Order: sequence, then C-alpha cells, then structure tokens
Amino acid sequence: MPFTNSRINHIRQALSNWYEIHKRDLPWRDIKDTYKIWISEIILQQTRVNQGHNYYIRFIKRFPDIKSLAEADEQEVLKYWQGLGYYSRARNLHKTAQIILQKYNGSFPTTFKEIISLPGIGEYTASAICSFSYNQPYATVDGNIFRVLSRLFAIDTPIDTTIGKKEFNEIAQQLLDKRNPGLHNQSIMEFGAIYCIPKNPDCINCVLKEFCKAYNLEIAHQLPVKIGKTKVTNRYFNYFFVKQGDYTFLRKRTKKDIWLNLYEFPLLETDKAADLNEILKSEFLVELSGNKNIEIEGPVTSFRHILSHQVINAVFYTINIMTPENTDLENYQKIRLEDLKRFPVSRLTEMFLEKTHI
Ligand code: SF4
Repeated sequence: MPFTNSRINHIRQALSNWYEIHKRDLPWRDIKDTYKIWISEIILQQTRVNQGHNYYIRFIKRFPDIKSLAEADEQEVLKYWQGLGYYSRARNLHKTAQIILQKYNGSFPTTFKEIISLPGIGEYTASAICSFSYNQPYATVDGNIFRVLSRLFAIDTPIDTTIGKKEFNEIAQQLLDKRNPGLHNQSIMEFGAIYCIPKNPDCINCVLKEFCKAYNLEIAHQLPVKIGKTKVTNRYFNYFFVKQGDYTFLRKRTKKDIWLNLYEFPLLETDKAADLNEILKSEFLVELSGNKNIEIEGPVTSFRHILSHQVINAVFYTINIMTPENTDLENYQKIRLEDLKRFPVSRLTEMFLEKTHI
C-alpha cells in the first residue's frame, strides 16, 4: 500500500462520512436480507441503477424469497427479466435458488467458499454478499472501484488485464476497513458511481483531493487505463413473423448462444445483409412454407440492435401461411397472437412487437 496507515484511516473515514450524507436512497440499501442483496447485485451487474430499480421491485414482489424463486417456472423468471439482457443471470438466479432450497434447506449459505461455488456468483458478488449481509472482510472491486483506486493511488496498470485485476484486488483488500467492511464497500462504490465519475469529476470540491495522487499530478482524466476494446461481431438475423389467422409460430432458443431459452419467430441467420430476392428463394423459407408462393405482408421492419460484443442487424418479415402442415413450421410452437405476451423474448423481438402493435 503506497500510503501510511494514518492516511489510509483518513481516506476510510472521509469515504464513510461522505457516504452517510450523499448515499442514494435505494430499496436494497441498509438491509441485511441476503436474498434481496443477492437479487439486487445480480440485477445491477451490467444494468444502470435507474433501470434496475423497477426490475428489482417487480422481481421481489413476485419472488419474495428463495422458495418462491426456486419453485417458479424458468419461463416466468425469464419473463420478469425480459429487457434487462444478459439472460444467463436470470437462469443462474433460478438455478441457484433451487440449489439453496435443496442443499441448504432454503437458507442462504454464509461462507465465501460456499457462496462463490453457486452458479452465477463470482468474486465480486460473493464479496458483496459476505460484506453487506454478514459484515465479513471481503473487498468488492467493480468498475467504479477500479476507477477510484486507480486515481487515488495514480495506478496506470490496465484494469482489463489479469495483472491489473490482481493488483487492484490487493489494494482494495488493504484499503478495506476490516471493522466495518459492508459500510466501507458501499461507501467507495457509491463514491465511484456518483462522485468520482468517468468524465469531469468535481475534484476541486472532493473530500479526497488531499489524498488523491491523480488529482495532485493532474492526471485524473487519464485514469483508469484499459488496453483494448473487445472485438464486436456483426450478425444478420432475418425473422419471419408467420401468421395463420389468429395464430403465429415461436421456437425456444436452445443453442449455446445469446438469448438461451428465450422465444423467437422462425429465424434465418445470414453471413451478410440479404435482399428480399435472396430471402424469398432461400431454402429456409421454401422449407418453412412448404414451397408455396410467399408474399411479404406490410412494411418490412429493420433494427440495429447493439449488445456488448455483437451488433444484430435484424429484419422482420411478416408472411401468411394458411397451411402449415407438412412444413418446417411443425417444429415450432403454434400459439395464439393474444398469448404472445406471455412468452419471454429478447428486447429485439419486444421492439418489433411494440412497433407493430402486436
Ligand atoms: S480528487 Fe477527483 S479523481 Fe481524486 S478521488 Fe476525488 S473526484 Fe476522484
């Protein structure tokens, strides 16, 4: 640790004083209910607090405890998650609730080792649960904390490297106030989330400016350092909203890919953007329609849907097929149009349904 004990104590104290005055009033704050802390932490991974707040309220209302979540149908859990993205989080929540019900008799385990062995719980979430709920001395290190630590100690080791992660974890653990780890972790996370922000932090009025090496060296804006952006892949999805009177056809995504276990319309994925002629002649549509003449109904709807590592260039075609027998449509679930809303779908499909008022 590059600072003396007395400076470290000053930093801890300044952070917790700041937190007591400025912390946001959030439903998962100042509670000890491990189940609710866990749910909030999983929702807040990759999700902004504003968006996560409403999901949290709805989720807890429907699944107030381990038992209700464990005994729910996965499809319903996914439906409550719809729009939040990163659906493996919801599937793992469900799986973990079932494990806790069976293996721990419905009580959340209390040791770091047991908690981190559960599906969907990594080092950060296990540390958050152990410190917030049980006041155990585990430092949390999330994106906000990387930023605060890199600036406070002027560390330019890239945060997206193994060596950087190890270094920041060690510093976070040394800075942790072992007498009150829960409060300490929440203070520094909140400070990073709303004060020591990525762009133009208000350093002049900062309670830590006296201790902040980056401020004193005037390099706060250069930190933290990241080595590179992840490569983004373009994908081309052609969806067919097939109508047969009051019915349509859906299929559950079962391959290891985005949106596992969510439902979708028949999908033809192509290597590049395909034009209407190619689509109409494609083997996929021939098999889907039973080699009938297909006409595209109404306007074709396109979306460019951006995920963390993929851009989905999607086109939705609406077609009528009145005789789905002996066609590939037999491999799909035939459902009433009015029942579409009961199925968990990706945000992309949800946007199509909203745009076309289905
Ligand atoms: S002085 Fe600026 S860079 Fe340093 S901790 Fe405060 S807000 Fe962050």
